[in-house]
Amino acid sequence: MRYLSTRGEAAARGFSDILLEGLAPDGGLYLPERYPQVSAEQLARWRDLPYADLACEILSLYIDDIPADDLRALTRATYTAAAFGGDPRIVPLKPLVGDPGMALLGLSNGPTLAFKDMAMQLLGNLFEYALARRHAELNILGATSGDTGSAAEYAMRGKRGIRVFMLSPFGKMSPFQTAQMFSLADPNIHNIAVQGVFDDCQDMVKAVSNDLDFKRRWRIGTVNSINWARLAAQIVYYFAGYFQATRSNDEPVSFAVPSGNFGNICAGHIARMMGLPIRRLVLATNENDVLDEFFRTGVYRPRASAETHHTSSPSMDISKASNVERFVFDLLGRDAGRTADLFGPRLARPGFFDLSADPAFARIGAGFGFVSGSSTHADRLQTIRSVAQGSGVIVDTHTADAVKVAREFVEPGVPMLVLETALAAKFPETIREAIGRDPERPAGFDDLERRPQRFVVMPPEIDAIKEYVATHCAAEAAGG
Ligand SMILES: *Cc1c(COP(=O)(O)O)cnc(C)c1O
Repeated sequence: MRYLSTRGEAAARGFSDILLEGLAPDGGLYLPERYPQVSAEQLARWRDLPYADLACEILSLYIDDIPADDLRALTRATYTAAAFGGDPRIVPLKPLVGDPGMALLGLSNGPTLAFKDMAMQLLGNLFEYALARRHAELNILGATSGDTGSAAEYAMRGKRGIRVFMLSPFGKMSPFQTAQMFSLADPNIHNIAVQGVFDDCQDMVKAVSNDLDFKRRWRIGTVNSINWARLAAQIVYYFAGYFQATRSNDEPVSFAVPSGNFGNICAGHIARMMGLPIRRLVLATNENDVLDEFFRTGVYRPRASAETHHTSSPSMDISKASNVERFVFDLLGRDAGRTADLFGPRLARPGFFDLSADPAFARIGAGFGFVSGSSTHADRLQTIRSVAQGSGVIVDTHTADAVKVAREFVEPGVPMLVLETALAAKFPETIREAIGRDPERPAGFDDLERRPQRFVVMPPEIDAIKEYVATHCAAEAAGG
């Protein structure tokens, strides 16, 4: 399988070449040259496979430069019941008895209790494997406001050939998120608390990435949500959810997805393009509704940082949705020239466009299955309360956004699977506000905030982070 850039001006490449890369050299995003079509025979064979083997079957359609036995060993090492909360299904389906036809697909049983573990855990093993084959090393530099950083650190801890330098805004993450990251003691994990806000952290990462000499010299890479391998890993749970919700392979199912950067639901779009019988993809946003606006009106209007709301579903607080370029490329019949015009630097206001009068936009619902809606803080509280009362389940704030919108689109006879993207234990403040008590913590997290923490504090200065990275890479290369 070869991978193309959505902007059409980069050479096609293989999976292992793009594994360690973010953007394509022309500024576009990589996509496979075609979506493999799954046959009735394949679906029948996959229905009863364990999750790790299903992952191997699906990923092998996209990865032809890793031997099948090695890929199977990697997925089996990644998707174990021990790593995902003890349930051998890995992504268990839980019916919501108070909402007939609706169920939660549990994607948050990994080490950091959020769905990003589903892809990041595999990425850690893929990186280690690929680096060992090339006798290479990688220094991952990232910025986080919470979930991505911890998912990356738990996936990369102790991995050979990999160091993680993770910037976070000092004192601005929740106590749970802070403790989760800062309590890691692995020597290849570097927590850097920046005296600033999340945007300062992100600017520092961008500045370092734009210094091509520094980047090459110290082999700097990223694990952000535009990475193709993360999307590929996420396709798998749409199939796993489908098999749990149906008895035969011709029944339609809908999925509701709490969305920010459009990574999670983009994997659902790809599963649907492969032929999985998905009726609707229900996109849910919080008050940051750039995606809801696009899917309802055809107008894509990225917001300025100052216009981005800080909400109680913080992992969806985005001003522009980086992965949406992949979907628009497909929507426009894979016209790379037009995609480059819409997202690239050629237009006066790159990334701002209006497709409302375009015939392609008319196919967004009927052709591609997308519908959308948004949710507010008040909706979130009300939803958490009503799901607790009706079904006895406490959902997290992001999942609540999706339940709220999913309820607007349930159809008789079509199961509606809501993707549970975090556990409520991560957001106790809002849960208390909604139902007046604390969410339960899964086993093993009781003493989290009391564990010793390891981090350095740094001013928001580019030279400071460069010096820190260079010093630690050099010292560890010399001293082991
Ligand atoms: C990252 C995240 C999301 C948003 O996912 P995207 O792939 O960015 O759309 C939703 N919920 C939680 C809990 C997350 O961590």
